[in-house]
Amino acid sequence: MTLDDTLLPILYMLAAMGFILAIKWLGSPATARRGVVVGEIGMLIAVVATLLRFEVVNYQWILVAFFLGAAVGIPIAYKMPMTAVPQRTAFSHACGALASALIGTAEYYKGLTQGGLTKVVMIALIIETLLGFLTFTASMMAFGKLQEVLAQRPITFKGQNFLNLGVFAVAAGIGVALIVSPEQTVLFPLFAALALLFGVLLIIPIGGADMPTVIALLNSYAGLSAAAMGFVLNNKLLIVAGALDGSSGFILAIIMCRAMNRSFSNVLFGAFGQLQTTAAAAGEAKPVHSASAEEAAQILDSARNVVVIPGYGMAVAQAQHKLKEMFELLTRRGVDVRFAIHPVAGRMPGHMNVLLAEADVPYDKLWEMDDINPEMSNVDVALIIGANDVVNPGAETDPHSAIAGMPIIQAYKARTVMVIKRSMNPGFAGIDNELYYRDNTLMLFGDAKAFLSSIVKELGALAKV
Ligand code: NDP
Repeated sequence: MTLDDTLLPILYMLAAMGFILAIKWLGSPATARRGVVVGEIGMLIAVVATLLRFEVVNYQWILVAFFLGAAVGIPIAYKMPMTAVPQRTAFSHACGALASALIGTAEYYKGLTQGGLTKVVMIALIIETLLGFLTFTASMMAFGKLQEVLAQRPITFKGQNFLNLGVFAVAAGIGVALIVSPEQTVLFPLFAALALLFGVLLIIPIGGADMPTVIALLNSYAGLSAAAMGFVLNNKLLIVAGALDGSSGFILAIIMCRAMNRSFSNVLFGAFGQLQTTAAAAGEAKPVHSASAEEAAQILDSARNVVVIPGYGMAVAQAQHKLKEMFELLTRRGVDVRFAIHPVAGRMPGHMNVLLAEADVPYDKLWEMDDINPEMSNVDVALIIGANDVVNPGAETDPHSAIAGMPIIQAYKARTVMVIKRSMNPGFAGIDNELYYRDNTLMLFGDAKAFLSSIVKELGALAKV
């Protein structure tokens, strides 16, 4: 009996339990912090257990990699703004996928000389390296577009889908040939190169707008690649962790597509970003009603109930702490304040939840879109903070809108609507929002944090009267 037969399975089981509980708890803002902690403990157990395996005979290079990784990872974690999470996620998928692909490559060449490339191992190895290489380049492309190192707009050309599918089919065909006879070593670099090329081609026609959904999909591919690596290395924990990653990434991509009323094929082949600028350019100047912070504070103060609808602009302005102050002042003055969260408000799933949790807004005040919408006609004030597309009634009324059919928070049903934003510029989908021109809408022009500060000051003054 070795350590590998006794302690290791128990540690792996504990780690797997940690991952499963983490995903369960991450599903609700009330338990998300616990989910993060248990996931981290699970990963620590997994890493320590793996380092204890008998195959690990030398820690030197592992330590070098550990310190190098920490030197890159720690500053990123501390310095990166929340609005950059999508590209950071893309970057970490790229690293994970590359690691998986390189391990698969090493196992292939090792197996050629030392034996062990059975059919089952070769099938897993080909899946691992195919997904690993293509996810690496696709994630780096996604990172580049989101970070605006590369042009965000989708690039399309005639026969593009045909070319993409052709490259994928040839790579898959070579993969099958390698499974049948692994000793055709000349094919492996070609296979890897085509997989890398396919990753680039996959992202070229996708606009920056759709990138977060694509990243969720790439997350899924990276997970599946890791699960396949588990079969190659005969590591059960990798199979469990990879399968969890693969399925959760896929489910997330489905949820995001539904919340935007888009299909997978539309995201992958629809070149969504192109619609945007033309639609925005078509918008013409129409009159709007605007109000000052003093007027807004008075309206809020005399309301019985207020629903706050945060969006991307709140994240950009980092206005969540000022918002919490306003929430406390209004609550103290007897106003019922709730927060309506759209599933794709902001630029990543859970974006608003994370920011509001950071400001310690009570979880029971956060309402999901489907729960708040039936209540909206009884709401005195809908206060929209840096949200645009997720409250655009055009999604319900205009079948030709770029966001037609996307479920929205029905702010327009409230008695008074107030919108904090800096200008009449469109949001992510690049389209005009007819809500701004309605008679019961007041535009509060300014940066979200600055405007909320002014409202808080005015509310403070009202409290002293
Ligand atoms: P939008 O992108 O539609 O609108 C954001 C608004 O915030 C802009 O109109 C902008 O107007 C305003 N804004 C920007 N900076 C500030 C600031 N400093 N102060 C005040 N306002 C500001 O955001 P939504 O959250 O409404 O919608 C999210 C969009 O992102 C949806 O279209 C969704 O489909 C998409 N999306 C979301 C994903 C997710 O996972 N959450 C993933 C992929 C896409 P102005 O410039 O005038 O200030």
